[in-house]
Amino acid sequence: MSEISPGGTRGSTRLDHYVDRYAARTEGMKASEVRALFSVASRPEVVSLAGGMPNISDLPLDVVGKGIADLIAHDGPTAMQYGSGQGTPELREQICEVMRLEGIEAHPDDVVVTVGSQQAVDLVTRIFCDPGDVVLCEAPSYLGALGVFRAYEADIVHVEMDADGLVPEALEQAIAATKAAGRTIKFLYTIPNYHNPAGISLSAERRPEILRICREADILILEDNPYGLLGFDGRIHRALRADEPEGVIYLGSFSKTFAPGFRVGWALAPHAVREKLVLAQESATLCPSAFSQMAISRYLENHDWLGQVEAFRTMYKERRDAMVSALEDFMPATCRWNVPTGGFYVWLTLPPGIDAKAMLPRAVTARVAYVPGTAFFADGYGSSSMRLSFCYPTPERIREGVRRLAGVLEAEMEL
Ligand code: PMP
Repeated sequence: MSEISPGGTRGSTRLDHYVDRYAARTEGMKASEVRALFSVASRPEVVSLAGGMPNISDLPLDVVGKGIADLIAHDGPTAMQYGSGQGTPELREQICEVMRLEGIEAHPDDVVVTVGSQQAVDLVTRIFCDPGDVVLCEAPSYLGALGVFRAYEADIVHVEMDADGLVPEALEQAIAATKAAGRTIKFLYTIPNYHNPAGISLSAERRPEILRICREADILILEDNPYGLLGFDGRIHRALRADEPEGVIYLGSFSKTFAPGFRVGWALAPHAVREKLVLAQESATLCPSAFSQMAISRYLENHDWLGQVEAFRTMYKERRDAMVSALEDFMPATCRWNVPTGGFYVWLTLPPGIDAKAMLPRAVTARVAYVPGTAFFADGYGSSSMRLSFCYPTPERIREGVRRLAGVLEAEMEL
């Protein structure tokens, strides 16, 4: 196996026999700071506030198991065969029902099932981006998407967010400046609900404004919405796609509302784009797993899956509360954080002069892990910030993790 250092692949290590043969695009492939952390953070004594794994321990495994047994008994050969590159018609119809909760009226023909929404980000980038094209992203943005954009050698231009999400004036300025520099913007990548990593949602007032700006500038929107049903007050934001069918590609996922192990997500795209996506999907995987799709179809059909989402929401809200009250109790007064109304993440800003990445080894020694803010920017920003995930550890462990983190931070401030 070749050695991959966090610094990249090509030219990165003398131990790699193939170092001079990799394609130029591998320059953009870097092990994420989260991945480099996983081996340390997964030790049981470390409270990991780093990873974004959903907590699926309450899933009704008996129901899932019965559905799978039934699937094998009645539809086994189909489930274990190659399927359509676009996904099964049954699941695509169910996906349209799911999206209706967010105000979207869609036809199953315009849905492409993908291997998690991660693959949907990849396919969209594959069909749109040439090297040097610009993708607009929030500042900060989802590191898994930044990795995809880099892998296709797109340039990332960040756009400021505030407590109400993407700032419309900043978006206008970024579009104008990028166009004035003669660059081609291929799309705006945005996570409007319970943002990863910022924990923020785009306000209802701003949604039409963002749509108007992109419509007028003829910029496609890639709306990534894996957390949309996980609002703690049960409120469901209206999707951007609901009001702009032709200008938005919408991405959804079953990873957070059901289970990530099935690896099923989807893209809803304008009709012409959908055709290209299916071709890209066929060349990438031939087809998404029929077995996974059919198992999910049975779960959605035979179970109160929305009731389960409600239970997830209650569980995550409890964990959000545990994190926020621990932050209030333990963190130095000079720290700032937001109180997310859904999703998995809190964004913490440290006092000026404290570098979250430099502090990380000391935090891990103190048995707590987080993701430094720089991981979520393409341009080195974010050094005095970090993402704290409250999705996976129990409330007690979250409190203990925040207490440890505050101790590390106080020691750092005294240095
Ligand atoms: N987009 C965002 C914003 C995410 O947080 C994640 C998962 N962490 C994904 C996409 C990918 O999710 P999946 O591939 O499991 O659907």
